[in-house]
Amino acid sequence: METYGRYLNVVDVEATCWRGKPPPGQVSEIIEVGLTVVDTHERVRVGKHRIVVRPQRSAVSEFCTELTGLTQDEVDGGISFAEACMQLRKEHFADSRVWASWGDYDRKQFRRQCDGGDVLYPFGAAHVNVKEQFALARDWPKGVGMHRALEVAQLPLEGRHHCGADDAWNIAALVLGMIAERAWPEVEVGG
Ligand code: AMP
Ligand code: MG
Repeated sequence: METYGRYLNVVDVEATCWRGKPPPGQVSEIIEVGLTVVDTHERVRVGKHRIVVRPQRSAVSEFCTELTGLTQDEVDGGISFAEACMQLRKEHFADSRVWASWGDYDRKQFRRQCDGGDVLYPFGAAHVNVKEQFALARDWPKGVGMHRALEVAQLPLEGRHHCGADDAWNIAALVLGMIAERAWPEVEVGG
């Protein structure tokens, strides 16, 4: 059995995108969920996961492929958003673990795709905005991007920026740094 509150899910999503607004009839949808599990007791990253999600109301543009590395072919082989949310709950205990992401974009994007639809929002209420905590710890009124934060924290950018799995892995390294510096908030599980 899992020790209550020991593991933290760090999540980073990629979504369909365009240089400007979406083309008529399309909406931005999640196409990749990157998830790194942090063992907050041992203070290590213990799992690097990636869920590729098939969009329903949008296609992967050339711009999106350049940014995220994801192609239409690859997302065509992905699972549905509903299945991805179920997987997050069943395999990654998303509804009971504290979870964290860089900024509020990832949480809001999940909300947008779940609210008013038939897909159950997979996460619990305990979410940490890592970008905000990182800025607070350094007394920076304005947050910085993940890339800059890694430089400031003297951590390497491992893998490819804007790949959800690699972004989550790198954000998890920033989280570990903040835990070590006692700059990580105490969060009530399920609170
Ligand atoms: P990130 O986690 O920074 O890779 O960004 C998550 C998602 O935000 C991407 O998959 C895009 O949908 C969107 N996004 C990020 N940067 C840009 C950008 N420069 N232009 C358009 N969309 C972007
Ligand atoms: Mg990303």
